Amino acid sequence: MKTPAETKAKPKKTVKAKSIAIPKLGPIQQALKNHLIFSSFKTSEAATPRDWYDAASYSVRDHVVERWVQTAESYYRDDPKRVYYLSLEFLIGRMLSNAALNLGINEELKDGMAALGRDLENAVEFETDAALGNGGLGRLAACFLDSMATMDIPAAGYGIRYEYGMFRQSIENGQQVENPDNWLRYGNIWEFQRPEATYNIKFHGHVVKYPNDQGEEVQHWVDAEHVIAMAYDVPVPGYGTDTVNNLRLWSAKAAREFDLRHFNDGNYEKAVEERNATENISKVLYPNDTSVLGKELRLKQQYFFVSASIQDILRRFLSTHEIKTQDDWKILPEKIAIQLNDTHPSVGVAEMMYQLVDVHQLPWAFAWELVVKIFAYTNHTLMPEALETWTVDLFGRLLPRHLEIIYQINHEFLHMVNHHFPGDAELLRRVSIIDEDHGRRVRMAHLAVVGSHTVNGVAALHSELLKSTLFADFDRIFPGKLTNVTNGITPRRWLNQANPGLTALIEAAIGSGFKKDLTQIKKITPLADDPDFRKAFAQVKLANKQRLAAKIEAKTGVKLNVHSLFDVQIKRIHEYKRQLLNVLHVITLYNRIRRGDKDITPRTIIFGGKAAPGYWMAKHIIRLINDVATIVNEDIAVGDKLKVVFYPNYEVSAAEILFPGSDLSEQISTAGTEASGTGNMKMALNGALTIGTLDGANVEIKEEVGDENIFIFGLTTPQVAEVKASGYQPRDYYNSNPELKHVLDMIADGYFSIDEPGRYKVIVDNLLNNDQYLLLADYASYIEAQERVGKLYQKPDDWTRMAILNVANMAKFSSDRAIADYAKEIWHVTPQAKTKTKAKAKK
Ligand code: PLP
Repeated sequence: MKTPAETKAKPKKTVKAKSIAIPKLGPIQQALKNHLIFSSFKTSEAATPRDWYDAASYSVRDHVVERWVQTAESYYRDDPKRVYYLSLEFLIGRMLSNAALNLGINEELKDGMAALGRDLENAVEFETDAALGNGGLGRLAACFLDSMATMDIPAAGYGIRYEYGMFRQSIENGQQVENPDNWLRYGNIWEFQRPEATYNIKFHGHVVKYPNDQGEEVQHWVDAEHVIAMAYDVPVPGYGTDTVNNLRLWSAKAAREFDLRHFNDGNYEKAVEERNATENISKVLYPNDTSVLGKELRLKQQYFFVSASIQDILRRFLSTHEIKTQDDWKILPEKIAIQLNDTHPSVGVAEMMYQLVDVHQLPWAFAWELVVKIFAYTNHTLMPEALETWTVDLFGRLLPRHLEIIYQINHEFLHMVNHHFPGDAELLRRVSIIDEDHGRRVRMAHLAVVGSHTVNGVAALHSELLKSTLFADFDRIFPGKLTNVTNGITPRRWLNQANPGLTALIEAAIGSGFKKDLTQIKKITPLADDPDFRKAFAQVKLANKQRLAAKIEAKTGVKLNVHSLFDVQIKRIHEYKRQLLNVLHVITLYNRIRRGDKDITPRTIIFGGKAAPGYWMAKHIIRLINDVATIVNEDIAVGDKLKVVFYPNYEVSAAEILFPGSDLSEQISTAGTEASGTGNMKMALNGALTIGTLDGANVEIKEEVGDENIFIFGLTTPQVAEVKASGYQPRDYYNSNPELKHVLDMIADGYFSIDEPGRYKVIVDNLLNNDQYLLLADYASYIEAQERVGKLYQKPDDWTRMAILNVANMAKFSSDRAIADYAKEIWHVTPQAKTKTKAKAKK
């Protein structure tokens, strides 16, 4: 008798891809001319600067596509295990410079443009950032794609093609104003629409039960509404290799154009209403970082992209493997690994069960075994407000069959737990996928942990805290499932592309191998003691500061002293990241300068970052920064000694200017709150010294660069817990530290908001009465560390030496190392051997 799998799975012959004949590409200069005419329909006289950006992009894209086709072909031919990275966010930034650099055709492009009388640097400014992410999590996904391609790992990213990405921030009267990010306004040369790659995504409806041929009860999801997911493919070129991987982003399309009944009645608005509602699914990115809104549309987004991706993954598997019997499915986990970037795609565990059990009719237990071998989950935060849960009511209305699947998964999981830990009802309550204490909610993190073979935190400290706090029960139930993979950053974008001056200097000293193998950067260590190298290093930093200062002057009108210490905090605005502690230091310095303290190192303190539109306190902090900046910058008694600026609309392209132009990296979150941070790594790789707490990856940065080459301050994670447990009284710090008291009184009394003296009273009240993130407890230690920073900056040689040693010790923080860890320990994939290599990147 045939198994259900035999009757349902559609066996296909293994596809043997044929070699593809690709037309030969000519010189870039010719391509530029051709594309101007044939792709943009412009003569070179009529071409606008944007047309030149387009021509440059098309010309580079041709080279990308050439390799992309070959990569896809090789994956079909060799059938390696593939990694699928599922992420609701990909913060890619600009593509042109990165693609030209990774392909090794940057110089040729620059020369080609110059020969036609155009400046490449000017052209790249016309590219709008692809800002399909909030911050660290989305940028990590983008760095990982770069590393996977660079390391020839057969991988693909899956996400959403948001029509509107991260909002654009402007500052008006000191306050954040959010503007829509219409990034597709001028089209997107870097995406390819795939109208043939579409999937039906179901929502709503209900579940019916009926017996199958074997007399077993099976469930069927009926009367659902349908949405179409259409693919858009974005190339991900590796550096110094022919590999170009794929990032597939889904866009929602209505299943029906419009309702003809309403149309025929003359009710045109009603006729398109349903279509608009459907297409809203991929309309806009939720602008919340480390906090979640339980909005139905958000869950719809998650299921929409996950279902499309899993259908696509299974379609690819079935098109390349003959599946005749149930046993043939056993190779599925040998052929695919799925990484869940946070819990956002964790409904994928239930969706894979739905596809295997309901659609392909595999037995439940057999399917579950496959699922757990396929999935792995990365946790990004311990913050309670970031842990996703959905009410059972909402979940069941939207995805009735998946709720049942989750109940069944939970039932079997709790049964297993009860078997191993009999009679521990409290344990069952704590680990259940369904939270029964807050009105019945689905805990997505629990679903992800139960459905994955490996769960990782993103820095050593964070992973330890996961084991000892949030997932302590799971660590007991599944010993060995929890592990660590410290985050990383791609040295291509964050050193090579963002800092060509430093790259050239290092390359002249040790060759170019460090770009693909960052462990080689260690070789510059002895040069920290070489006066000529130090001088050249300092000159590069100065040039980068000049570039940044010019940008800041153009954006804000504030003229900076490039010889002052550029003290930079750029990241999302959040209370736990403690931009406010930085402000307390600014005001302390201001007071010291005004009272005539000698020996104060001139500083420029630069802030940048977006606040979630609904996060009132974060927006209020932005306003305070700008109010403080106004008073400080206009005070003639302060002069050149202190300047404060808020860099508007912090995004990837801005970061590429800000990191290289920084002297001091502010990584000052309360210990135990920042999972990893990646801005900290980008800063150090670009020769900024860190002032930071022992939090996230700062701990490992300290280990790598040595205690003497970093400014650590503040309470440690256990001390934070102790202070809180012993009844923290922030007011005691206020009463016992006159300098702190003065600073807080100035804010509370309206010194920086003369037009509305009570404006910031709420901030001060909050600090004095609550201070959840222990700013006042860490204030004195922070000020003392800042004094050490100021003193060292007065010894430029010592400062530069330390900065060089920071750069030299950044190897660990390459995303290549992180991806190598994932590949070896979690995905069990190996790089795809290349049959021929035509990569032109310099070795
Ligand atoms: N946003 C952008 C544009 C970034 O490049 C980065 C990090 O590197 C972040 C946000 C996250 O910054 P952090 O790790 O400092 O929170």
